[in-house]
Amino acid sequence: MRILLIAEHDVEFRLVERLLNSIDGTPHQLSWCQADVGALAALPVSSYELILWGRISEAPLSRALLTELKRQQSAVPVIAIVDHFPPNADRDAIRRGESDILLRSALNADILQRAIAFTCARSTPSIRNIETLNADPLTGLSNRQEFRTQLARILADAKTSESVGLILIDVDQFKKVNASYGQGAGDALIQLIASRIRESLREPLCMARVGGNEFAVVFRDEQGQVETECRRGIDDIVQSMTKPFAVAQHAIRMNVSIGVALNKEITITVDALLANADVAMRIAKSEKGNNFQFYSREMTDAQQKLLKLESEIRRSIRNEEFELYYQPRIDINSHRIVGAEGLVRWNHPTRGVLPPSEFIAVAEDCGLIVPLGYWIIHQACKDLNRLSEVGHHELQLAVNVSFKQFQDRNFVQTVANILGNQGITEGRLEFELTETTMMSEGHAVDQSLRRLSELGIDISLDDFGTGYSSFAHIQRLPISVLKIDRSFVGSVTSNEDDATIVKAIINLAHSLNMQVIAEGAETAEQVEFLNQNRCDQVQGFYFSKPVKFHALLDLLNSESVFSGADSATIQNVLS
Ligand code: C2E
Ligand code: MG
Ligand code: MG
Repeated sequence: MRILLIAEHDVEFRLVERLLNSIDGTPHQLSWCQADVGALAALPVSSYELILWGRISEAPLSRALLTELKRQQSAVPVIAIVDHFPPNADRDAIRRGESDILLRSALNADILQRAIAFTCARSTPSIRNIETLNADPLTGLSNRQEFRTQLARILADAKTSESVGLILIDVDQFKKVNASYGQGAGDALIQLIASRIRESLREPLCMARVGGNEFAVVFRDEQGQVETECRRGIDDIVQSMTKPFAVAQHAIRMNVSIGVALNKEITITVDALLANADVAMRIAKSEKGNNFQFYSREMTDAQQKLLKLESEIRRSIRNEEFELYYQPRIDINSHRIVGAEGLVRWNHPTRGVLPPSEFIAVAEDCGLIVPLGYWIIHQACKDLNRLSEVGHHELQLAVNVSFKQFQDRNFVQTVANILGNQGITEGRLEFELTETTMMSEGHAVDQSLRRLSELGIDISLDDFGTGYSSFAHIQRLPISVLKIDRSFVGSVTSNEDDATIVKAIINLAHSLNMQVIAEGAETAEQVEFLNQNRCDQVQGFYFSKPVKFHALLDLLNSESVFSGADSATIQNVLS
């Protein structure tokens, strides 16, 4: 078997050579080329059957190497050897088209042999023909790699700028369908959507499935009409999405977000055109519901701002610019503060105190929510100890945990370490998760929740009523608290439907032995309604806004604990 090793140092070459020599069976013929694009470009990669890639980092050189491999349109499988698995390592490897990823420190002959055997079994040319290599097996459309080749050809053939239009179509909320109805239903839905879009379009130059829930369509017009063509295409696509899809015996309505990019410069590359359409699509997505956007230069500026924000968040985690504020939770019977929800704020050096809406979504998108989330959990544990020191042993603190944090493989273990280091006992820390979080990662989140609950962490379901969760699922999870979303609480006294929903949620929770907390109570009338309907706890501006930790201590220690409301009124309301 002919194997090419791409590696920086000959040490790696000698190691791999030794390991391969100790494997019985097929003899291996190992060649080595340094991680250098020039060296690789000089090699006909296709004369090898496997590439082993000793990767040092995600440096631009690595990306350039991959680009070169792709440029050679190599179908030779790649196994990467790395020093550590960053979060999402497997997913990133798949995205890059690597067949496997091995840890350098754990590398031995057995592991290498198994990885080679698996990789080769999956990519034997005899079981693939060129057509299936180029097609997406689910929809029969071109796959991403084939699409890139076609687009490169179309761009090279273009005689004028603004003659090629790339439409990128992303199916919104597709993950939820997978999570709720299973992957089979998700696959069926993708097939239906693909054929609807294909049938709706008049003469696109090509159409492809370029991602799990992403399609691309290209139009060309050398007479200056490509924008009009694209707009007509978008109309057709949106029109084709109006009727519900029949999947798993449900009628599901789906929306798409569409980004369009034209070849503004005749020299534009495939990557640049795809990136532009992607930027436009993301902006369309943020506007929700069958939206489309044509790419403009300002969008890249906006994206660069986002990148700047990302690097600022990274810096501010190191500089401890974040602070946990706390909003008290009041027990409706004892009239006392029984807990508090930690809500993060960013003490930005120039922009002042920023609320979570300014940075949480970005932190989630770029993965920084993972380190930030650990900082938050750690801080809440420290604050629990500070509370104990002043006699508040019973008080419970809650923190919000977002779905991305569950994607970190070490999440539960790291939380266990933090709890252990801080000596936090059972029942003092609570994690708030939204319905979307509970549903989004399916089985993995379920398991993590069970293990967290075994660690003594209570789990609450945040913003209940706004999301998309199945009753059967909630029942199976170790959830001890439902938090009614403030959009319902805010209108219990003015909207009968919301009043009915709130009563129903309280009854539902109690029948499942869960506590109920109403979020966002702002008036005495709302608190009275909640009291009459046997809600357990209330949280809202009526009692207190989120405050700094020392202010929470003041509230706990003062007679009149509730700011923003006259305590006599509250006593009346609550008793
Ligand atoms: P949430 O967890 O549902 O938090 C409740 C939000 O409602 C807080 O907004 C709180 O200030 C606000 N609120 C509470 N009572 C009232 C009221 O009576 N009236 C009104 N109008 N608003 C009220 P905040 O602090 O801006 O947080 C917004 C969201 O950001 C949170 O919603 C949560 O989803 C997220 N978030 C906050 N802190 C964290 C965090 O540490 N980690 C993560 N992952 N997300 C966080
Ligand atoms: Mg919350
Ligand atoms: Mg909430």
